[in-house]
Amino acid sequence: MVIDFILNMFLVIILVSLFNLARYIFKIRKIMKMHKDDPNIKGISIINGEINIIAKNEHSEETQVNLIKELVHDPICGKSIEKREAYRILKEGKEHFFCSWECREKFLEGHQAEEGEI
Ligand SMILES: [Zn+2]
Repeated sequence: MVIDFILNMFLVIILVSLFNLARYIFKIRKIMKMHKDDPNIKGISIINGEINIIAKNEHSEETQVNLIKELVHDPICGKSIEKREAYRILKEGKEHFFCSWECREKFLEGHQAEEGEI
């Protein structure tokens, strides 16, 4: 009998938490629908049961600054390229960036020739 009672309590607790979870999901979906057309919405956070919208504004400015910072110089053709898109070589502890595979190959050939002469 005691075991039955405990099992019943357990079932009730599970049902209640499932119900709460479903309610949260429903709430989040409702908020997502409300803000679907807003391009500044990054996501939704749940803190102590409160559902909050995370706006994207500050963050996008941050990434723009980063993009400007991340320009690198191609030593072969002299172009400025974005660091993320550049081909890179680590040579003697220094990182070199190139706009294309061809520039990278030229750089490597040049270095090999130098080393060959020594
Ligand atoms: Zn280049």
